[in-house]
Amino acid sequence: MQRALITGITGQDGGYLAELLESHGYEVHGAVRPATFSALRRPSHLSDRISMHPVDLREAPAVAELLDRLRPREVYHLAAQTHIPTSFEDPGATVEANVMTTLRLLEGCQRLAPPPRFFHASTSQIFGYSGQFPLDEQTPVRPVNPYGASKAMATDLVRIWRESQGLFAVNGILFNHESPRRGPDFVTGKICRAAAAIKQGRARKLLLGDTTAQRDWGDARDFVDGFWRSLQHNTPTDYIFATGKLHSVQEVVDLAFATVGLDPAAYVRIDPGLIRNAEPSPVVGNSAKARALLDWKPRTSFVNLIREMTEAALSLDPPAAMALVV
Ligand code: NDP
Repeated sequence: MQRALITGITGQDGGYLAELLESHGYEVHGAVRPATFSALRRPSHLSDRISMHPVDLREAPAVAELLDRLRPREVYHLAAQTHIPTSFEDPGATVEANVMTTLRLLEGCQRLAPPPRFFHASTSQIFGYSGQFPLDEQTPVRPVNPYGASKAMATDLVRIWRESQGLFAVNGILFNHESPRRGPDFVTGKICRAAAAIKQGRARKLLLGDTTAQRDWGDARDFVDGFWRSLQHNTPTDYIFATGKLHSVQEVVDLAFATVGLDPAAYVRIDPGLIRNAEPSPVVGNSAKARALLDWKPRTSFVNLIREMTEAALSLDPPAAMALVV
């Protein structure tokens, strides 16, 4: 049986990846922050078959011990401080979380014989204002926020360990991807949950920043399939994962409110305080390399994704949903 270790298993992608690997017959292990582990916040969608291991990924001995004990065939490094505003509030912690964890895992993998194959979840935020449309694997890196900068450095470390240490190490350069498990700190999750809460009388309005901002939004379940495919290929390299299609925040609003049968004009207000300064927009990706080498392609349409997210929000527990909307 193949064995895989997933960091960030409690997050959106970690849960879907765990389900995918189990469906492929893997024995799945998750590395979890000790505080999260002790708070017993194991998401209900994670099966009991998955072993959870408390570990501080910034600590080299702890990482080495876990890898030594498990000797996985594949390591998927998804854990990260993923929230851009938080990365401005605490850039040091963001660098620790996103760079040092990657470095410790690369070092730990390299020590094993045979070394596991390694996947790192990088981001389109490494590009910032590239001026290029669409973005691909050759686009110069110029991040505009500490989150993007931390991921840019981690991405370089992965490439360096591949090129100079011979590790089978892959960067997936991920554009936005969403799902019913997307948290309310992200704009699609916020909008879909707000539409559902307003419909159910649990919220009165939704405050947003720039609704003309456009993104390349895909489905998390399609993306984790790409993560897995990238480690099954003969050769390690970096891949863009993106849909190649742009949609605006306003389109998300219109679809989410249409799903619950409400007119968004009556409930949505623009709050200038929510408009980001250094908004690298529009950001659209060219995933031709992943499509050609991995036979990967996004399968879920944007319309179906936003509808599904809104319908799922309608069945959230009211106390959880209340905490999540404006
Ligand atoms: P989530 O925010 O849903 O999950 C983040 C995971 O990382 C959680 O398991 C969380 O654990 C863990 N984590 C958070 N902070 C730390 C920390 N300081 N140290 C260790 N672990 C931490 O992210 P996604 O699942 O959406 O994203 C997965 C990966 O893909 C991330 O690396 C992200 O940067 C990247 N990515 C995602 C995109 C997207 O649109 N979803 C786009 C581009 C890149 P805990 O439960 O303990 O909080």
